[in-house]
Amino acid sequence: MPATMTGPPTSDQFEEVSCYACGESSCHDLLTGQDDLTGKPGDFRFVTCASCGLAYQSPRLTIKHIGAYYDDEYIAHRKETEWGILTRFYQRGMDKHDRQKDQLVSRYVQLQPGDRVLDVGCGSGSFLQRLRQRYQVAAGGVDFKNLTHLPFFDGVEFHEGLFYEQPLPQDHYDLVTMWHFLEHDYDPVRTLETTARILKPGGHLVVEVPRLDCVSYRLFGKRWPGVQAPQHTVLYSKKMLLKFADRCGLERVDYLPYGAFPAYFYLFAGTAFKIRKGQGINLRKAIYPYFLGQLLLTPVLWFERYLNLAMQTIIYRKPV
Ligand SMILES: [Zn+2]
Repeated sequence: MPATMTGPPTSDQFEEVSCYACGESSCHDLLTGQDDLTGKPGDFRFVTCASCGLAYQSPRLTIKHIGAYYDDEYIAHRKETEWGILTRFYQRGMDKHDRQKDQLVSRYVQLQPGDRVLDVGCGSGSFLQRLRQRYQVAAGGVDFKNLTHLPFFDGVEFHEGLFYEQPLPQDHYDLVTMWHFLEHDYDPVRTLETTARILKPGGHLVVEVPRLDCVSYRLFGKRWPGVQAPQHTVLYSKKMLLKFADRCGLERVDYLPYGAFPAYFYLFAGTAFKIRKGQGINLRKAIYPYFLGQLLLTPVLWFERYLNLAMQTIIYRKPV
């Protein structure tokens, strides 16, 4: 826990939110989430819109106060190189994740040298560096956390801040990707509209988010890793994700009930969160049971794509 965070966030750090999809402010309680990953204090309320059924966090921490939860412990920003005897497995896992993203995108988009790619919520930049090296694309990333000291940003253009506030050119990008970004977003509709503006006609958008109506949510409930309080602002069912994306002026190419992110992580973390009950998990210790569990579940995970375990991905295209 960082020295600045001595207790749960105070009420003046929160703001009420009305539904991101329809603007309705009346809602029902869905669950109370905690920071199960790092164990920082606080209870965070998620609700369901009384009008359209969207699940979202309200009240939410203001942008100014959410930053403290994206500290060095935040998993998407970790690029540790020393994991003892398991270093090789860990690095292989991270490489595999970028490879899965690449393979998923490549089913829909044949990237050519010089194509412009923007990854929104790019984190460490390793995915962009992969695309840059394999396809010689012009790679750009956006994130509100600046990690450009990492080597993955060599030759990658970086925009710091909120995506929809960036002065990005119209009809410019061949591909925009959002890997586990939209569920963190403070204005997802504006994000999708911005994407529709900056894509070239014929350009593609790929979005992966956790899926609320999935097997692992039914198993873990408020300890479901997709809750990830307080960082997750919206919990998307398949229906609501498609509804959001359909109205932003792009055309749907495909919907996948899985993603590049390993569903196994949600099975493992959900089990650990249930046991730890909001005290956080020590990733350094958890890495041994993590790989053991993965080995045992291998036969199940072969069929991950058909089991609706945790993730979903949408592919959209800007009309020509
Ligand atoms: Zn609504």
